[in-house]
Amino acid sequence: MESSNANGLTVIIVGAGLAGVMLALLLEKQGVNYFILERAQAVKPLGSVMSINSNILPVFEQLGLFEDVKKISKPCRSIGLHDLQMNKIVDINMADYEQMTGYQPAVFARPRLYELMVSRVPAHKIFRGKKVVSIEETVDHVVVKCSDDSQYQGDIVVGADGAYSGVRQSLFKKLEGEGQLPKSDTQDLTYGWVCTVGLTKAMDPEKYPFLKDDVSRFSQVIGKDLLNYTAVTVTDNQMCWSLVVQQEKENAVKDPNLRNAEWAAPEALETSLKEFYAFPCPLGGMMKDLIDATPKESISKVFLEEKMFETWHHGRVVLIGDGAINAMQDAVILSNCLYDLRSTKLSEITAAFKDYREQRYPHAQSQFDNSRLVGRLTCGQGFSDKILRYFVFNILPASIQRQQFLKAASYRPQACFLPLAENRGQGPVMPQKPSWRRELELHQERQHSNEQQPVAA
Ligand SMILES: Cc1cc2nc3c(=O)[nH]c(=O)nc-3n(C[C@H](O)[C@H](O)[C@H](O)COP(=O)(O)OP(=O)(O)OC[C@H]3O[C@@H](n4cnc5c(N)ncnc54)[C@H](O)[C@@H]3O)c2cc1C
Repeated sequence: MESSNANGLTVIIVGAGLAGVMLALLLEKQGVNYFILERAQAVKPLGSVMSINSNILPVFEQLGLFEDVKKISKPCRSIGLHDLQMNKIVDINMADYEQMTGYQPAVFARPRLYELMVSRVPAHKIFRGKKVVSIEETVDHVVVKCSDDSQYQGDIVVGADGAYSGVRQSLFKKLEGEGQLPKSDTQDLTYGWVCTVGLTKAMDPEKYPFLKDDVSRFSQVIGKDLLNYTAVTVTDNQMCWSLVVQQEKENAVKDPNLRNAEWAAPEALETSLKEFYAFPCPLGGMMKDLIDATPKESISKVFLEEKMFETWHHGRVVLIGDGAINAMQDAVILSNCLYDLRSTKLSEITAAFKDYREQRYPHAQSQFDNSRLVGRLTCGQGFSDKILRYFVFNILPASIQRQQFLKAASYRPQACFLPLAENRGQGPVMPQKPSWRRELELHQERQHSNEQQPVAA
């Protein structure tokens, strides 16, 4: 493939999920040669509710997609947490989010955002039906093989293939064989959630009056017997729902079948759905009504686990993604680091990947910790979870909550090679770290000026 950029780089992206597509959009702007290998034959309108906020919306502004995101989403001003009797446990108020950050949190159905983003990637750059099965590196290149025996050559491979990344598995296997994989990366994930999600057809606003609101109604229910669920209004009179069954540690570890890793309709779906039929829907009626109003092809199920891996890259292979906002931030920072490459030499590539990990790891770690905490606060059914919930929502001073909120909202990485979106809102915005190339240049400039200084007598 011909390359139009100065460094002659060719990037193979594995996986056309949100991370892969975001990276493609950014590389497209840089004029870097890239293509995506995607396992699925076609885009399936799968997935339920998603939300993005000031942590990534500036990049959508840079890409000229901000207004389009607004069209497919509703702003969210609060999240209601209920018990099974529909008593409100707490209303997590986000009314001043816009004033503080300059952005309203955007709530939408995942397929809408995906369709929007993928529509901006030139179709000929996505190869579908290409399941990557192996990766081989030479000194100068990397060769990727797919299950249909096709193979592709590039300078780097970006594994953007989701939570159960095959690229990660193949990288880890190689590193383990060489005794280079940290022990924590070899350990099993302990427990997680079986999550079934759906997007209804357009519903009757007379029956569900919340649909008439300009804002999204986002309601979560802490159920019983490790069951929790969510119902959310989005645009086009549609509603998103998700049903979550927390796995006991023992079951999750023993049953490898839980890890089907596909956001696809599994067998025995009916059984898992029926568990929720009789639960009341916080937006009206029963959960059965929402499930019945959802076309089968808009229901998917996945086993979700959480783990922070230590190893993010090796040689010419780098990993990005998972977790909606995190995945897209990974793509932004990686594209910044690649922008600085002056050649495709392994030493340069390693410097870029190292910088990417250094920039992203602390933020990914704090997002990971935060999402665990939010999970306990909004789903936890254990005694300690209830105490924690009571403490956070009733005792913790509002000023401390606000501080945490402002800190989280201040991380807004942008693409350094595009005109920057202005800093909005009254809250702080974290300055962006100069790139590895710029730091090297600054270091050289400092050294040079030190050498020029006259030595004191
Ligand atoms: C169909 C689908 C529905 C989802 N629904 C929701 C939802 O409702 N709510 C939610 O919070 N999150 C959902 N997610 C997950 C969410 O999109 C991701 O966690 C997040 O956006 C990070 O995206 P990602 O690009 O890292 O991973 P993903 O979005 O999981 O994308 C990974 C992509 O890689 C492809 N792939 C995997 N293995 C290979 C391989 N060997 N070769 C080539 N391609 C491969 C997959 O087909 C997929 O397109 C869904 C993901 C998918 C794929």
